[in-house]
Amino acid sequence: MAGDKYPKLVVTPHGELTAPAWLPDATRAVVRCVDSHDMRECGVSGIVTSAFHLIRQPGINAITAAGGLHGFMSWQGPIVTDSGGFQAYSLIRQNPKQGSITDKAIIFRPDDGDKLILTPEKSVQFQFRCGADIIVCLDDCTHPEDPLDTQKESVARTVQWAKRCKAEYGKQLASRRLDDDKRPLLFAVVQGGNSQDLRRECAARLLEIGFDGYGFGGWPVDEEGNLVLDSLALTRELIPAELPMHALGIGHPVSLVKTSKMGYTIYDCTMPTRDARRKRLYAIDTARVSVGGSHKDWFDIVYLQDEKHGRSTGPIDAQCDCLCCKNYSRGYMYHLARIDEASFDRLATIHNIRCMVRLTQRIGQA
Ligand SMILES: [Zn+2]
Repeated sequence: MAGDKYPKLVVTPHGELTAPAWLPDATRAVVRCVDSHDMRECGVSGIVTSAFHLIRQPGINAITAAGGLHGFMSWQGPIVTDSGGFQAYSLIRQNPKQGSITDKAIIFRPDDGDKLILTPEKSVQFQFRCGADIIVCLDDCTHPEDPLDTQKESVARTVQWAKRCKAEYGKQLASRRLDDDKRPLLFAVVQGGNSQDLRRECAARLLEIGFDGYGFGGWPVDEEGNLVLDSLALTRELIPAELPMHALGIGHPVSLVKTSKMGYTIYDCTMPTRDARRKRLYAIDTARVSVGGSHKDWFDIVYLQDEKHGRSTGPIDAQCDCLCCKNYSRGYMYHLARIDEASFDRLATIHNIRCMVRLTQRIGQA
């Protein structure tokens, strides 16, 4: 559905991502309840991991001992490593006791672990050592409703940090002597909250430094829970159409379809897999997907705790070809959920992941 001017593919050292690519969040080097084999079977093209979480556990030595994240988790497709900027937002900005953010670094003091100092340089070094395919610059993430001064500070810091990330990236490339087709891509994140001026300023200054791709940064929903569509559209327009863009943290089916015409290349979101564990299973009529109409025409949620499913012999979604839908009925899944069986979480997660893959394939073809 996106226009021809936007990139159809992002080529990485471990393969291609076809737009729009929805990547599950393997935050701690695993997508909860499924393994890398399950994801391959679902048709997942790439995953997103978190530098912040992996530095803490298992630590870089366990990952490099396996030759990087690909070997560690037996995943041969593209891996995006998020920098840690988002975790700073979710942990520190919402609870200053958990650490502090200065121009020099992010200092995490989590309740459940050791102090961690994350500088832009350290974040890039770590992502290199993980063997990432797409490295994301450390950024200073905000909420759209944060005051203007906070947004200004975030943009200034994000640009400075992006400069330092690019310099460190250059050093790493030189010392590793990586050929162009082996080098990871470097993405920078555009901040600025809901201020159009700040988004413009941030995008312009990042473009001056020059990156392989860009991300839409900041908490993506406002206080009323609405996706910040105007900011998303504007930010995409600020980046040249031929460069790929990652809508960070966005990837609920309805959000993905709503933004699909804007030209975003990559999406990631924990919601589809979290919904699966919460017994909220997706039913997507891919043939009826439309940007303009109501999502109710093509998207439904099967609430599996609902007793009415107990005697149902049909699959969760008649259109779905996943392991769950091909083999098991709603009635059986309802039973597994009732007895709190671990295989429910796996099958449900496989189903929602497969729905996301089918949805993105459909959008990509349209
Ligand atoms: Zn299914």
